[in-house]
Amino acid sequence: MSAEKFLEVRGLKKYFEVSRPGFFSRAAPRLVHAVDDVSFNLRRSEVIALVGESGCGKSTLALLLMGLEEPTDGVISFEGQVINHVSDSDRKDLRRKIQMVFQDPYESLNPTQTIEEVINEPLEVHGIGENKKERDQRVKKALEDAGLKPAETYLKRYPHELSGGQRQRVVIAAALVLEPEIILADEPVSMLDVSIRAEIINLLADLRITRKIAVIFITHDLGSVGFFADRVAVMYLGRIVEIGTMLEVLEKPQHPYTKALLSVIPVPNPRMRRERIILKGETPNPIDIPSGCRFHPRCPVAIDACKVSDPPFIKHSQTHQTACLLLVK
Ligand code: SF4
Repeated sequence: MSAEKFLEVRGLKKYFEVSRPGFFSRAAPRLVHAVDDVSFNLRRSEVIALVGESGCGKSTLALLLMGLEEPTDGVISFEGQVINHVSDSDRKDLRRKIQMVFQDPYESLNPTQTIEEVINEPLEVHGIGENKKERDQRVKKALEDAGLKPAETYLKRYPHELSGGQRQRVVIAAALVLEPEIILADEPVSMLDVSIRAEIINLLADLRITRKIAVIFITHDLGSVGFFADRVAVMYLGRIVEIGTMLEVLEKPQHPYTKALLSVIPVPNPRMRRERIILKGETPNPIDIPSGCRFHPRCPVAIDACKVSDPPFIKHSQTHQTACLLLVK
């Protein structure tokens, strides 16, 4: 199988209806355009950082990939098979292969379960393991692979007895025990102390090597991507506006929005600092998407054509100027 046939997303949309006009009204229903024509592919054991301000649609995109939301339009395929609408048993199998790690480890864990019960539960749900001995071995391996060693020290403890970083490791272990092929990590370090964020990112970086797991690392903080990601996709108002390798995006950003996000990252070396770009106004309401390029009301280099035409999203085979030239034609 080619690497490109691993996870593919084409023209994915998710609109939420917020109000429906009266029966006799001709007005269209009001829709939140949470995810609006997103396309990308994820390769086996690749790490993609999905970056954007809160409300840009990245978490909704993760829920669509998990099958926890139904797409309004578009195609998601995994290992060559379209998975938009699958039977309950196929969905259960997919949930084993695509696991999610949420932002808040406090909310993800049942406070009345021991760590052993937390990690064992997914095995019971998916009917994995011939007997208790085999399940116990899987639980211990998952804990140790998540950095909680020796596993016996943690098995009988409760979530409240652990630190925030240890709790997030337990959440990751509960995903690992199912031997997933993809982890969707939704802001997995944003609730943690700065001192332990790097540990969790390093853990995910190790897992993609030791277990060949692909990771979609969702974050509002472009600065936290560091050298962890292979590629970076920048989302704005439901769309990916720029995608490229980590070095391309961090060192030669093309889209004005990416440049603005990068300009506010603190850099210790004064000679490496970028000029700070302050964007005009607030992110527009996703119910009323601006015409043309949706970034135009805030873009520092917008031209008149931007109000009516939308350029294609920027891959790093093209520059933003090229995209804008396409727009002006
Ligand atoms: Fe800015 Fe126009 Fe480019 Fe949009 S298309 S990012 S408004 S210059």
